[in-house]
Amino acid sequence: MDKRESLRNYLVYLNFLNSKLQKFFEAQKPYIFCKKGCGKCCKNAQFPYSEVEIRYLLYGFTQLSPEIQRKVEENIFKVKKQKEEFKGDKFYYDCPFLINDECCVYEYRGIICRAFGLNAVGADGRFKAPFCAFEGLNYSNVVDSKTGIISSEKYKESKIDVEPLVYNVSYHFLTDTDSEKAFKFEFGEKKQLIDWL
Ligand code: SF4
Ligand code: SF4
Repeated sequence: MDKRESLRNYLVYLNFLNSKLQKFFEAQKPYIFCKKGCGKCCKNAQFPYSEVEIRYLLYGFTQLSPEIQRKVEENIFKVKKQKEEFKGDKFYYDCPFLINDECCVYEYRGIICRAFGLNAVGADGRFKAPFCAFEGLNYSNVVDSKTGIISSEKYKESKIDVEPLVYNVSYHFLTDTDSEKAFKFEFGEKKQLIDWL
């Protein structure tokens, strides 16, 4: 498939996905505490990205001022060095595009960055509150800190009239072949963000 056409069609999918996610976040408002400058979910993680997502993200990078570009490049260099020196199994890192706790490529960010923060069903079929539920943020008002799932007791106590729901927004689901077929584009290869840079 022609790469330009694939990117164009990916943007149509992104539009569709954005409006869907916006409705989900809006519907869960009493449980969502995301704020500009939070940035906790942009740290100490892996960030899966597909080829089409990284192309869009890197286009966003070219739109930044030379000063911010330089800061991102310094971050990339730092993370790559940490990765080289890392001896363990799974390497977690801070996203190099996080500058002063804000995403410098927000409009161009990938799917994982857009969907994170909802109470979700994971690729393994398990319900999963976002990690920030344990840090006083999203769903912290209804999560059971032992099981990591929403507690019906806590929900009753909260007196919130909107139910906390579970959404199928895993990266695996949102980047499946059905979306590619419906919107006529290809995600292409998938790997960690840092491995594209
Ligand atoms: S999802 Fe959680 S960590 Fe990320 S911005 Fe929202 S509140 Fe912060
Ligand atoms: S691209 Fe932006 S939103 Fe995504 S992890 Fe990096 S800083 Fe966060």
